[in-house]
Amino acid sequence: MKIDILSLFPEMFDGFLNNSIIKRAIENKKVEIKIHNFRDYSNDKNKKVDDYPIGGGEGMVLMPQPIFDCIDDIKTADSYIILMSPQGVKYEQKQAYNLLEKKHIIIICGHYEGFDERIRTLADIEISIGDYILTGGELPSMVITDSVVRLIDGVIKKESYTNESFNDNLLDYPVYTKPIDFRGMKVPDVLWSGHHAKINEYRKNEQIKRTRIRRPDLLEKSWNYESKTIFS
Ligand code: SAH
Repeated sequence: MKIDILSLFPEMFDGFLNNSIIKRAIENKKVEIKIHNFRDYSNDKNKKVDDYPIGGGEGMVLMPQPIFDCIDDIKTADSYIILMSPQGVKYEQKQAYNLLEKKHIIIICGHYEGFDERIRTLADIEISIGDYILTGGELPSMVITDSVVRLIDGVIKKESYTNESFNDNLLDYPVYTKPIDFRGMKVPDVLWSGHHAKINEYRKNEQIKRTRIRRPDLLEKSWNYESKTIFS
């Protein structure tokens, strides 16, 4: 998979791309990630990328020319273009599975007041990572990238995500490590009983119990990660 990210602040990605699982995935050629500063594509002599909103109002608006030219340069027949926007569809785990099917993802990060409305015509989808406003699309683009890359075959152990929260619309079960007794708080007996069927039953019940308490809305959904339902 190839991921191209358009951003005015490429340095923001340094820590993200150079640590832990994402770094390893890049080194092992599971994914190729490139950051493009669309300022480089500006036709303006001062490399300007934004201007005042026509009609008045606060803030600066990203101009169409640098972003359109950058997309013209990197887009192929396989490209799927995502615009990061608080006005987009709200991101969920099922969309990470859907994006996993794409060969080439392009993510456009906004900044300042937002985009010239015509930039929206470039996008296959607009995605929001939640109902709050950030200063730019960089963190959201890292959220999307991280959630997809960890699902690529061979990046992490498959068992790590077949049981995790949101698959089968359930939250994950509680986990413990050593010691068995920590400050009087004990690991449930069943988990160190060595009885695998009982452990599985305990875990499933805990998943249902905790989802019912914390996220009853999930139990009403019909999505299942194995069915890889397409979202629109
Ligand atoms: N004025 C705009 C917000 C602009 S925030 C509005 O009210 O809709 C600047 C940029 O940050 C956006 O263009 C987008 O790329 C990014 N951004 C901010 N919050 C976001 C969120 N919750 N999800 C995805 N992108 C977001």
